[in-house]
Amino acid sequence: MSEVMERFLRYVSYDTQSEDDAEEMPSTKKQLVLGKLLRDELKQMGAENVRMDEHGYVYAAIPGNAQKPVPALGFIAHMDTAPAFSGTGVKPQIVENYDGSDICLNRELDIWLRTKEFPELSGYAGQTLITTDGTTLLGADDKAGVAEIMTMASYLLNHPETEHGPVLIAFTPDEEVGRGADLFDVKGFGADVAYTVDGGALGELEYENFNAASGKVVIHGCNIHPGTAKGKMKNALLVAMEFEAMLPSDEKPMYTEGYEGFFHLDSMSGCVEEAKMDYIIRDHDKKKFEAKKVLFSQAAAYLNHKYGEGTVEAVVTDSYYNMKEKIASHMYLIDKAKACMEKLGITPIITPIRGGTDGARLSYMGLPCPNLCTGGHNFHGKYEYIPAESMEKVTRLLVEIASSFVDLA
Ligand SMILES: [Zn+2]
Repeated sequence: MSEVMERFLRYVSYDTQSEDDAEEMPSTKKQLVLGKLLRDELKQMGAENVRMDEHGYVYAAIPGNAQKPVPALGFIAHMDTAPAFSGTGVKPQIVENYDGSDICLNRELDIWLRTKEFPELSGYAGQTLITTDGTTLLGADDKAGVAEIMTMASYLLNHPETEHGPVLIAFTPDEEVGRGADLFDVKGFGADVAYTVDGGALGELEYENFNAASGKVVIHGCNIHPGTAKGKMKNALLVAMEFEAMLPSDEKPMYTEGYEGFFHLDSMSGCVEEAKMDYIIRDHDKKKFEAKKVLFSQAAAYLNHKYGEGTVEAVVTDSYYNMKEKIASHMYLIDKAKACMEKLGITPIITPIRGGTDGARLSYMGLPCPNLCTGGHNFHGKYEYIPAESMEKVTRLLVEIASSFVDLA
């Protein structure tokens, strides 16, 4: 068994599910258990300045061995798994020499990984696939990234003949609840630039993501007995429906793809007296993003004009921005990753992310940080799987990128 696969199987046995709406960080204490293991393993393999802070961030350094000054390069992965699906008692199944047909994940529960639903599966015929047993997620997101970075680190430390600049490593908690960058110590990390290793299929390389905002709408109605309501009742639910109807009906997640942005009504509750709606607003293009926010506020203003000031409160808060703006002046990060992929026979797949990454937020915190593939598929659920060969290739890719940075000196 390859080192990266052996590491991966060890790391997924730790339940590190994070939790929404927790006050503390990490959101779940169990993430610290994996953090400690990684810290100890990094120390053991001879990495320097290895530390874990009280919030669960693990940092380490591999000093450069090149003869010239090379930019300090970081690799980052997250330790937690998604709150959306159980990560307790993960029992990976190993399908050796996969024959390209449907895979039974759980005979008793009749759960199958079918090529009809996931046509890319048959492309992995002949490889070793790691799947779930159908009752949990696998945790390749992002323990594959963790295992790949760890294996790269052990390779560099054991192969001093491979020239490289300073390589920094960080593992973060709580990425899946959107907080992985919150307490990241960019300065202490010490990297000039970095990659998150948190993407999907082999070859994925991402440096564009949404500009994102949340919109909270509260509508204040006025409840009167319906029998005597004429001219008096203000039904918050109906005003809420009117608000929604003022947003472009085709700019919704189910009608958009690629670079198309959207308004998404995520939750709605209420009664005649008061209604609440939670939206997210997304667009890759900064101008279109700003225009969407303006439209959102104008809808509220119109309804206030119609029904009286104070009827609709709409608060828009920016969440994160497209990292492209920050990567633009560091495009060599993309060119290098692409060239290294091609050298290893990996076809680069460059697509805009229809979401955000910790790297996007780190880019705005001063650490330009595109996203590299892990090799995994179907994250956040029971159909998650990863080919061992993809993990091995990504590991080689990380080593290749680290050593290619010597050319930047
Ligand atoms: Zn992830």
